[in-house]
Amino acid sequence: MKSRKLLMIPGPIEFEPSVLRALGSQTTSHVDADFIEVFGSSLEMMRKVFLSESGQPFIFSGSGTLAMDIAAANLIEPGDRALVLITGYFGDRFAEILERYGAKVDRIKVAVGHSVEMEDVDRKLKSNHYKLLTVTQVDTSTGVAVDVKHLGKLAHEQGTMVVLDGVCSVAGEELRQEEWGIDLALTASQKAISVPPGLALLIAGPRVMKAWRSRKAPVQNYFADFTNWLPIMEAYEARKPSYFATPAINLVWALDESLRHILEEGMEARFNRHRLIRNGVQDALEALGLKQVPVRRELTATTLSAIYFPDEIDGPTLLARINSEGIIFAGGLLPEIKSLYFRIGHMGPTLPGEIIHAISALEIALYEGGYKFEVGAGLTAAERTFVNSHQ
Ligand code: PMP
Repeated sequence: MKSRKLLMIPGPIEFEPSVLRALGSQTTSHVDADFIEVFGSSLEMMRKVFLSESGQPFIFSGSGTLAMDIAAANLIEPGDRALVLITGYFGDRFAEILERYGAKVDRIKVAVGHSVEMEDVDRKLKSNHYKLLTVTQVDTSTGVAVDVKHLGKLAHEQGTMVVLDGVCSVAGEELRQEEWGIDLALTASQKAISVPPGLALLIAGPRVMKAWRSRKAPVQNYFADFTNWLPIMEAYEARKPSYFATPAINLVWALDESLRHILEEGMEARFNRHRLIRNGVQDALEALGLKQVPVRRELTATTLSAIYFPDEIDGPTLLARINSEGIIFAGGLLPEIKSLYFRIGHMGPTLPGEIIHAISALEIALYEGGYKFEVGAGLTAAERTFVNSHQ
């Protein structure tokens, strides 16, 4: 029996051996010429991964929540209005963070499994002046992906900036930050960026930098303040030494390695591979007759799937059985339905073969749990999708 399990949760994910090797490199000084080169090239590669040539990239030590906090701290002045689009757990979190910095927050919160309607957003934007709106491109608690292509245009018509939580999307789900008018996009290292947890990444576009420069009130968080960090990012990109707070040196080595891999694959190929994997998973789940949290297939993310346990199945037993087949899935997260569903992460370097392994484990566990279905139906459906993609 293999003791190694395949980690298929929506972050952290499985990492490439070369990324893990980079993480284990000898720690250098943060002003060592080699490290300056790696930090500088990571900033440059981030622009290509986010598809945001005019944006200012930032790399911080911390998790995705810190990236949200940094965005809010730098953009919100007490009394500013913000609109938060909520498709799950992480939208609620963004609203709380914005309020902590003194924003007056309005929420558009949809029913579980639904996405936001752009007409509702438009109506709301016209009803008040909002300095910014936030959207979770993929909410990891529901597996719903919001179609954000036209959000920038809609928001800019009303003078509102768009801040995108891309923690569960960047480098997996299609995102074209600049073309789509996303003013700030943020993520964390442990998801589709494919680096162990510990880095918070964001790219701020020209509107964001302008809004930050014209602030009247100081940023209410010392660590987060772009005033401290912008000169550091500019120095690294100019390949010059600088210091504000010690960077997570080994994680940045790993980031550089992973961003190189991502760009070697190419963003279009990467988006397509994530779509293919999602289609394989979706076809399998449909063939097995499993109900999902997103209410329609067009709303499903390419980075994870969220699936209800069938009525006759005991959730913890199913997940434990899947685990004994060598696969780790995640349980539920959204408080309203937490014990009723589970999640499969399929972002980053995931291959079709790993999906086949995962669906096989799922079928075995469902069968043993007494769920009625045609054995092999999920596997055949996924396999067909993967085979057809080569024709
Ligand atoms: N937003 C989304 C969409 C997430 O999935 C997560 C993490 N699951 C976060 C924010 C918070 O990130 P972190 O756990 O790295 O703080």
